Amino acid sequence: MDAFTFHNPTKLIFGKDQITQLPTQLPGGTKKVLLVYGGGSIKRNGVYDEVMKQLSQADVEVFELSGVEPNPKLTTVERGVEICKKEKIDFLLAVGGGSVIDCTKTIAAGAEFDGAPWDLVTRKSKPKAALPFGTVLTLAATGSEMNAGAVITNWETNEKYGWGAAPLTNPAFSILDPAYTVSVPRDQTIYGVVDMMTHMLEQYFHTPTQSPVQDEMIEGVLRTVIETAPELLKDLESVEHRETVLYAGTIALNGMLQMGYRGDWASHNIEHAVSAVHDIPHAGGLAILFPNWMKHNLDVDEQRFVQLAVKVFGVTKEGKSDREVAEEGIEELRKFWSSIGAPETLRYYDIDDDKFDVIIDRAMKRGPFGNFSQLHKEDVEKILEMSK
Ligand code: NAP
Ligand code: FE
Repeated sequence: MDAFTFHNPTKLIFGKDQITQLPTQLPGGTKKVLLVYGGGSIKRNGVYDEVMKQLSQADVEVFELSGVEPNPKLTTVERGVEICKKEKIDFLLAVGGGSVIDCTKTIAAGAEFDGAPWDLVTRKSKPKAALPFGTVLTLAATGSEMNAGAVITNWETNEKYGWGAAPLTNPAFSILDPAYTVSVPRDQTIYGVVDMMTHMLEQYFHTPTQSPVQDEMIEGVLRTVIETAPELLKDLESVEHRETVLYAGTIALNGMLQMGYRGDWASHNIEHAVSAVHDIPHAGGLAILFPNWMKHNLDVDEQRFVQLAVKVFGVTKEGKSDREVAEEGIEELRKFWSSIGAPETLRYYDIDDDKFDVIIDRAMKRGPFGNFSQLHKEDVEKILEMSK
């Protein structure tokens, strides 16, 4: 393991009716709150009303920024920053999925920054301060509710980057009520499952590789998601299964599974480049790319793939070479994702290779990437070709 300091400052408030804690979680002296949300799901499922009811007990003035899009846009961040500066907002509350939360994080930092928010996203500048913010999560997927990361798209340049500045962009608190996720439609439920699984897999393929505690934790949470997701998809209204998946999504990317190691994250980087050009759902892209990233990297450390196959997918070793076991594990992952309805090829989104050069250019913008193995232009090209 590498030396590490673990400090996650986000207070996690989990469970039924925990929204009642909202008024007491606002920092003392909060007067003006900017409520940030998406395209209206929170109005349809009643979450908006519950949040407003709680805020009305907190004696604060509420401003709103609605319409945050999936794959949040830089222009929406800029609108939010403008409201914060003009109205002297002192706290932000994100109510929604990862897109709303990521947008809020970037607004919070942008509001306390003199330059353009895009300079923060591209890491040209580092924020020195950010407005405090909390979240009410409505979709199990990204883990953004308990980490410092945010992913923002600039549609003028077709660039989509992850950035973050812990602890400034860590939520002060996140309220997670499984009942708030019951209205998540089937496709987004599937995407959420794929996203959290990919977060765990990105961390499973890490350096340095000696990691028994981390391995067991990741394998255990992966197995739990693999067991629960099909049950949840049979009954989308099961609060019990929603709860399991919601908790798993947070654990998957709140730093607990990455202590002392560097995860790979190359597939996320390639996916960001794909969705910056084609605006597809993040986890749809990951479902397509990740198994191909695995095939491409089999030789880097075959035993990691064997371990995943045996411990997560129950592949038996008898009479098989290590290579066969490793390949079977990748096949099992692909089969599992297909069985729940995730896409297998870019064709699913009508994407062919005519913009591969732009995607490769965007993916390579920050130079070679990936920790388990470092990818160069040719590697990205090969993985995209395998994903057609
Ligand atoms: P999302 O983009 O936040 O939401 C997807 C859709 O689900 C939206 O249409 C949203 O509708 C809807 N929705 C959310 N909650 C709902 C509910 N309770 N009932 C019904 N519909 C609901 O999805 P996401 O997967 O959470 O976030 C994806 C983004 O996060 C991508 O940009 C990805 O790159 C990024 N990401 C971030 C991290 C990180 O650590 N920060 C990690 C991975 C990915 P409304 O718009 O109406 O709310
Ligand atoms: Fe992700």
